[in-house]
Amino acid sequence: MCGIVGVYSDDDSLTSRIAYYALFSLQHRGQESAGISVSGEEVRVYKGMGLVNEVFDDKILSRLRGTSAIGHVRYSTTGESKLENAQPLFVKSKSGTISVAHNGNLVNYKDLRKNLESDGRVFLTESDTEVIAHLLSSFLLNNDVEEALALLTERLCGSFSLALLLNKKLVGYRDPLGFKPLCVGRIENGYVIASESCAIDSVGGELIRDVKPGEAVIIEGGELRFERIGEAEQKAICVFEYIYFARPDSIIDGRSVYSVRFDIGRTLARESPVDVDIISPVPDSGTTSSIGYAFESGIPYIEALIKNRYVGRTFIMPGQKSRELSVQLKMNALKENVRNRRVLLIDDSIVRGTTSRRIVDLVRKAGAKEVHFRVGSPPIISPCYFGIDMSTREELIASSKTVEDIRKTINADSLSYLSLKGLIESVKIEEGDLCLACLTSDYPVEVPGEICLRCSARA
Ligand code: 5GP
Ligand code: MG
Repeated sequence: MCGIVGVYSDDDSLTSRIAYYALFSLQHRGQESAGISVSGEEVRVYKGMGLVNEVFDDKILSRLRGTSAIGHVRYSTTGESKLENAQPLFVKSKSGTISVAHNGNLVNYKDLRKNLESDGRVFLTESDTEVIAHLLSSFLLNNDVEEALALLTERLCGSFSLALLLNKKLVGYRDPLGFKPLCVGRIENGYVIASESCAIDSVGGELIRDVKPGEAVIIEGGELRFERIGEAEQKAICVFEYIYFARPDSIIDGRSVYSVRFDIGRTLARESPVDVDIISPVPDSGTTSSIGYAFESGIPYIEALIKNRYVGRTFIMPGQKSRELSVQLKMNALKENVRNRRVLLIDDSIVRGTTSRRIVDLVRKAGAKEVHFRVGSPPIISPCYFGIDMSTREELIASSKTVEDIRKTINADSLSYLSLKGLIESVKIEEGDLCLACLTSDYPVEVPGEICLRCSARA
């Protein structure tokens, strides 16, 4: 998971600052590293480990001068969390300068890399993004940008939303299945490309529209144009963006993330009613669906838990150990609100089950009479190979346990999940255009070792 941005501004002293603020509003998409690449008289890249405001300061930004920039925040899925894997990736070759910021995960990364290494190519990182840089530098030797992107698309398998600086051109590109979001907006004297529309809002811009799956947006000499590069019969838009990952104030593929989550809560209330005194979210990810559940059921929305606003990064750090440690740092129960009450907790998803168990215990210890649990998504049963950090079946509690077993494990009085049908109705995107693989095991492309139901083959 990552966040990407691209900025074009006529005022070359503003470009990197706009990129900085846009990245800052995508911080939820990755907290491990941040970077900006700017194309001015020459290309400059600055990146570091940590949060956007830890990596950059005013002095650094004022040295990053140019009319075009791309930026990246990283949450690693392929490659370790270290500086050399941070993005944007920058290469200089016969075809010019190339900077790449990538959100997604390439399923055929190992094969692509092996082939390139057999051709004598040298790799400096463990990140799948480097194969994109290598392939682009080859394809751009004898082709224009559109042709190079088409050739790239033929070779890559997996998810890739890209922000690119190709010499002076700023390019946004979304893979034909459209796994990861990408949109473009207008700002004064320029344009912004971003993973989510909240980034465009945050710099005072206006959303033009989503970049369509298989489409490129090319900004050159201050002029913007859309180009269709690749086409797929069905799309594979990541449903987890709507469930959990994206900010609720973003609009993705024409759907407001907030209204999807609100509808999820309403649907959940109709599907799985429960006799309780209060409804509380597990903050923050369960907030919007809890409001929807309370709206539909008429049961009061009263918070049982307060979250410390400043622990975000420790929690989202990869690895089970840091996840376990951070729960008590992150949440505190409101005894006054839960004492002697029947409480319904609502969260967006249960992934590993560890947090949910601790939270139920917290609310019980604070004096709740009953603690019920509702989940704003169906059980997550299969790993994601396209960039969400749920990489092995073993770590997914619902891959091996029934709902009743999970209820016992998290120690709730009752537990229900949203149905798949209820989810799709809430998202309001055609089922065939969504990637639901984590919920159904139906992978939209062939993944080594998994069965692709769309082509009924084991890759
Ligand atoms: P669990 O009970 O599975 O340990 O934790 C469930 C919680 O994890 C939910 O609140 C959900 O919002 C959150 N969650 C789901 N996916 C991710 C992720 O990739 N990273 C982080 N930090 N939290 C996640
Ligand atoms: Mg959460």
